[in-house]
Amino acid sequence: MKMKEALKLKVERKKLISKFKKGDRVICLFGKSRGKFGSFERVANNNRVLVEGLNTTIHHVKDTGDPSQKTGRIKMENPMHISNIMPVCPECAMPTRPRSKQVRDSRGKKVKQRICHRCGASLDGSR
Ligand SMILES: [Zn+2]
Repeated sequence: MKMKEALKLKVERKKLISKFKKGDRVICLFGKSRGKFGSFERVANNNRVLVEGLNTTIHHVKDTGDPSQKTGRIKMENPMHISNIMPVCPECAMPTRPRSKQVRDSRGKKVKQRICHRCGASLDGSR
């Protein structure tokens, strides 16, 4: 891959990832968890993310004598592609493509906020 293309990919990826923050309510649009809601956890690796409650599989964990380890049938999240999920607006409860907007916080400092493209409500409301 050429240097320029690699850089372009990197920028695209950053753009996508910047639309999500930890604790965001997201909806899955494709795959086996389609239509389900989850809570954004973290970026796993290249374009893949972990979302609480989405893309889960059941792992059977045997008792190894370690009391700190859970045993039995345990639900675990698997990394899923970032393009399969969309943030959900807290106001209109619809999947949204957030826009960026500069606003002033309580101390008059300029901060960037994510805005819902449908209703204009802030996705970072209380934060
Ligand atoms: Zn909205």
